[in-house]
Amino acid sequence: AEVTRFGPSPTGFVHIGGIYAAMIDRDVAHRSGGSYVLRVEDTDQAREVHGAAAQFTNAFAYFGLPADEHDEVGDYGPYYQSQREAIYLTYVRELLREGKAYPCFATPDELADIRARQDATKMPPGYYAGWALWRDRDPAEVRAKLAEGAPYVVRFRSPGVEARAKFHDVIRGELEHEDNRNDVVILKSSANDVRLPTYHFAHAVDDHLMRTTLVIRAEEWISSVPLHLQLFAALGFEVPRYAHIAPLMKQIPGGKRKLSKRKDPEASVDFYIEQGFPAEAVLYYLRGLANGRLAEVPLAEALDAPIRLAECGVAGPLVDLVKLEDISADHIATLTGEQILVAVRAWAVAHDPELVPVLDARRDLALAALAVERGDDVPNPRKDLRKWSGFREAYGFFFPELFTPRDVTGEEFAQLGVAPELVRAFAADFAESYQPLEDSGEWFDQIRTLAAKHGFAPKPKDLKQNPEAYPAGGSIREASQIIRLALTGSTRSPDLHAVATTLGADEVLRRVRAVAG
Ligand code: ATP
Ligand code: GLU
Repeated sequence: AEVTRFGPSPTGFVHIGGIYAAMIDRDVAHRSGGSYVLRVEDTDQAREVHGAAAQFTNAFAYFGLPADEHDEVGDYGPYYQSQREAIYLTYVRELLREGKAYPCFATPDELADIRARQDATKMPPGYYAGWALWRDRDPAEVRAKLAEGAPYVVRFRSPGVEARAKFHDVIRGELEHEDNRNDVVILKSSANDVRLPTYHFAHAVDDHLMRTTLVIRAEEWISSVPLHLQLFAALGFEVPRYAHIAPLMKQIPGGKRKLSKRKDPEASVDFYIEQGFPAEAVLYYLRGLANGRLAEVPLAEALDAPIRLAECGVAGPLVDLVKLEDISADHIATLTGEQILVAVRAWAVAHDPELVPVLDARRDLALAALAVERGDDVPNPRKDLRKWSGFREAYGFFFPELFTPRDVTGEEFAQLGVAPELVRAFAADFAESYQPLEDSGEWFDQIRTLAAKHGFAPKPKDLKQNPEAYPAGGSIREASQIIRLALTGSTRSPDLHAVATTLGADEVLRRVRAVAG
């Protein structure tokens, strides 16, 4: 059984890559009968953003990825690093006692001076070997400094002597990386109110105490593994296995690059929530990226397909929002009208509050609108609803409150190529004689009859060779487009008869008369 963990830093932004990683963590743990831990890595209080930890919990709730252990749930807490200060101090003291760590009193000025001299002599930057002022000081001197209360940090005494560190990665196989020689800070300055450790130290202690067996994290941490191996060894801990996953990528002209929070809105989970992508669709998409089975299998099966780390690959997968929308539309087409309405309403509460009272007041109309074309309870067969934010565009015209009649002299009617006077006359005639017939064929016959009366004719096949054969009034297709534009405000819509039936005769007449002017 694997114990995996996700260790976000609450710096105010949940990266979609975090959901991707958490999903992999959870899948791998659960399929092995193990456990998945959410641990908040909040030791960098300068970078911390208030309320950011809650954003992770919310995002996990939205995407249905609750951790098995987090907050108050679990026997290995607390799961906030800032609340584990005493635990870290115990281990720092042990390393100090064993001489594997030492207090360092170097001042900011001294550190800046070291850095400048390293730059000038083209030496690698860092606190190591001869540069490490306090590494091999006389113990009496250290005691004196401590006695006078000088502020200090605790540094790890790096044993790094090998040129290269070798380790195994589940995704990448055998890896080699330049070994760590740096005496990194493991406990921050004693001048602070709270003595917190650095990420590197805290994560090693936690991964041990929280019995992590498999560390799954972004590939940017590979270069830290040599240091982490040294820390595990110094602490006498068993080393977990590692799987460094490739970052999500974005297509750009001429190549691809890492999806970046500074450049790409879709790097944030908020983007997916605000746009109203169903959580299932996002998860399916991310899972497809991870298990490589995106196009092959139906949604339900793909959601069930295990993620095999060994097959994850080292080239980061591309995030393609069009593909995601396709998947989302497919998913929405499997839902019932009730389910769609619940989801759209929940989305609207946060992102389109004005839509909520309309949906509430017109529940039956909303369900009828969603059922148009199908006649049963499975809507969206044309897949015109691709995400919850698209509800207004796809179905808004059904609601009198959300519908604005189009102007005959406006762009949309102009594209039909029918003279405005003719459009008005046709609409007026239609309103005059309209019957809300149940039979679809008979209902459309009303349009055909009127079209003939107004000189609309079938479009000739040889139109290009024979333009004068095309009657000035337009074709029968244009005649029904006039009614479509009148009823839906668009030249693309579900079946017109079904739309008219759902709207009811009064509303149909109101809209057609608005066009007749
Ligand atoms: P930048 O805009 O500087 O590139 P970033 O997008 O890399 O920032 P960070 O703050 O560096 O964001 O990272 C936040 C978290 O998101 C880290 O855990 C990191 O591993 C993860 N992360 C960042 N980019 C990606 C990505 N493209 N794919 C997957 N995970 C990512
Ligand atoms: N807090 C680190 C991050 O946000 C986690 C690194 C790790 O998983 O070890 O990337």
